[in-house]
Amino acid sequence: MAGEPQTDCLFCKIVSGDIPATIVRESDTTVAFRDINPQAPTHVLVIPKVHYPDASSLAAAEPQVAADVLTEAGAVAADEKIDSTGYRVIFNTGSGAGQTVFHAHAHVLGGRGLQWPPG
Ligand code: 5GP
Repeated sequence: MAGEPQTDCLFCKIVSGDIPATIVRESDTTVAFRDINPQAPTHVLVIPKVHYPDASSLAAAEPQVAADVLTEAGAVAADEKIDSTGYRVIFNTGSGAGQTVFHAHAHVLGGRGLQWPPG
């Protein structure tokens, strides 16, 4: 059921502590941890503790938690000192856009020059 932990979900297992991660921030509703395959000097994933397959379904069902993810993304940028140089927050949505883990997550990327448009 949407919102409930999924036994086959990698990020639900990070939330529960069953799979280790380098956690940089945690709130009542979110966890932020370093991406295992970083694409920039700072590459942190911010996830809701509740399970929804993507950011849009999270926002539709639990808009305050979706807002919490964005607030924590900004806090990560401040912690990492990339807020003054610029950073990117990305929600890959759907396999055609590169989403590989179907538990909503924001990528927070920074610490190097970022090109536009993204590939
Ligand atoms: P997506 O491709 O779904 O937008 O992003 C999923 C991200 O999760 C990828 O950037 C990938 O490197 C990261 N990832 C996949 N497995 C793990 C893991 O076990 N631990 C951590 N920390 N990140 C992971």
